[in-house]
Amino acid sequence: MQQPSKIAMLSYNTFLPGFSNGWVEGKLLLIQDRNGAPWGAPQFGPLAQKAVLQDQGDQQIARAVGSHWQQLTEHLPTLGRVIIYVGDRGSEGTIEHAAKHGLDPAKALFVFCDCNMRAKEALIKQHGFEGSPRVMCECGGHQTMAMIARKFLATGELQ
Ligand SMILES: [Zn+2]
Repeated sequence: MQQPSKIAMLSYNTFLPGFSNGWVEGKLLLIQDRNGAPWGAPQFGPLAQKAVLQDQGDQQIARAVGSHWQQLTEHLPTLGRVIIYVGDRGSEGTIEHAAKHGLDPAKALFVFCDCNMRAKEALIKQHGFEGSPRVMCECGGHQTMAMIARKFLATGELQ
């Protein structure tokens, strides 16, 4: 695969703690966290806590992924690859945003945990991304996204 010179990575979780959103070393456009802020938002904890936060969390995540795409739009033409973590309820909307903002399926790379896969698959098909590569990951995507980011920053390679 041809290595892109500039990529973006999107996640409503924080996978590179301590990094601010924006360009990292001029080649990685980092957009992480539910608030679009580099730190401060809690990660989902144990299941009980997750259940309590679920309703509130769904809406918060849905809003966050929308805001992430707004931040990304102006950079889209310069990006060779856009790597998107898609997690649990509320975040699948990011697939719809990707389509709406005209992301070329050839430039998309989806990082999926296995939550709610049926809904994700349906949205992928519905929006024409079935040809885009995908990587399966742990729930939350923290380690996988961090690994991809650190490798790209160190070597300029995605895989
Ligand atoms: Zn998950």
